[in-house]
Amino acid sequence: MLVMKFGGTSVGKPERMKKIAELLLSTPGKKIVVLSALSGTTNALVSIGDNLLLGQKAKAEETIATLETHYNTFVKELYGSESFQAIGQEIVSRFFIFIRLLAAGHFDNKGYRELLAQGELISTELFYQHLQERKISARLLPALYFMSIDENEEPELEKISVRLKPLVSSLNNIEIIITQGYICRNHRNEIDNLKRGGSDYTASLVGAAIQAEEIQIWTDIDGMHNNDPRIVKKTVPISELTFDEASELAYFGAKILHPSTIVPAQKMNVPVRLKNTMDEKAPGTIITSKGTEGSFKAIAAKDDITAINIRSSRMLMAYGFLRRVFEVFENYKTSIDMVTTSEVAVSLTIDNNTHLTAIENELKKFGVIEVYKDQTIICVVGNKITEQKGVLNKIFDSLSSIPVRMVCSGGSTNNVTVLVDKGNKAPALNALNEGLFGLK
Ligand code: ADP
Ligand code: ASP
Ligand code: MG
Repeated sequence: MLVMKFGGTSVGKPERMKKIAELLLSTPGKKIVVLSALSGTTNALVSIGDNLLLGQKAKAEETIATLETHYNTFVKELYGSESFQAIGQEIVSRFFIFIRLLAAGHFDNKGYRELLAQGELISTELFYQHLQERKISARLLPALYFMSIDENEEPELEKISVRLKPLVSSLNNIEIIITQGYICRNHRNEIDNLKRGGSDYTASLVGAAIQAEEIQIWTDIDGMHNNDPRIVKKTVPISELTFDEASELAYFGAKILHPSTIVPAQKMNVPVRLKNTMDEKAPGTIITSKGTEGSFKAIAAKDDITAINIRSSRMLMAYGFLRRVFEVFENYKTSIDMVTTSEVAVSLTIDNNTHLTAIENELKKFGVIEVYKDQTIICVVGNKITEQKGVLNKIFDSLSSIPVRMVCSGGSTNNVTVLVDKGNKAPALNALNEGLFGLK
């Protein structure tokens, strides 16, 4: 069985949805199809939710009305017959009644998460009806029946698998099973989500849960590129990556994949293939446990990083010091990305400032604290690159004109990370593109 995930741009226009139906028809065998919301929808729902939390109901209603018009036009173009256009209008009107109901009542974080879920719920219903109109046999399998996260917001892979396997077997004569990406239930059984870009993660969790043959992520680009195409002009697709390489790239900001996508697939050894909906003939990228060693594969960048420096001549050499520092971060559920130490100081980075003030206050008991916001981690990835000669030379030669605040190498054999001011991100990515890949 295949898992095929289609992202926002792949379902964002009526003709693209029709194209997905063609793709499914030309792909033999049984598949679970994971769909995102139409592009722009989750952003609009976030803006509606933010306005409602601030009590700005009129502003929220403006966005709701614009979104509703967009969906009404969408269904007019998606369905050919009058009867299916009527079905489409009914779906849209039902969803927007519900959205306005949420907006009218007492709006809290629980309502916000319910609001965010509407994007994937409506896209899957619209697509299902499109297949119905074309007499393509399919079933809708609601993600809220099987997808769950625990009290630490971690997906419950075992439980997902136990729920999903019998559901899928009970549909054994159905070739196309459609489900929602992104959405799930939390430990309070409320509607929740896997964070922005989470449909990739859904696809990987589903693929791991049923031990699929392959997880395919269909998007708007021909696979993982060697650098961020939004920032660097000349980038090239990479045909093969290991799970470790892809995982580091996703975690360190390659937007094509949600940061945690690779984890479940790697756990169950299910290959992940990245494909382009706009150019299905393009080979894309295949991600497996096997790889070629020793060359630079790609560069990714992660923004909104805060660096914290703790200087403490008294304590650093004492055993147990680092444990106590790390405990502060653990108590505030804030994960650390980079760490470097010297005899008198330790520097580390976090990507979540929610508890920064409290963390800073607690760290003050260890020594002098310096905080640098608006930093960017640049991550250079390649299977076993740190075991090769001259790798650091090449990286630092490329970055010779850019100030580097921190460097980490050796923690993993697959990557070297450096920290730069956010303003130096684009120059650093371009300089590395030229220095490591000869592309400019
Ligand atoms: P979807 O809506 O299908 O989930 P996304 O917008 O989340 O699509 O991800 C695809 C986008 O990721 C591409 O259009 C590209 O701009 C961006 N991207 C960032 N880094 C990379 C990279 N290294 N390789 C490919 N795409 C990347
Ligand atoms: N619709 C969600 C988002 O925009 C999830 C996804 O597209 O992967 O973040
Ligand atoms: Mg995405």
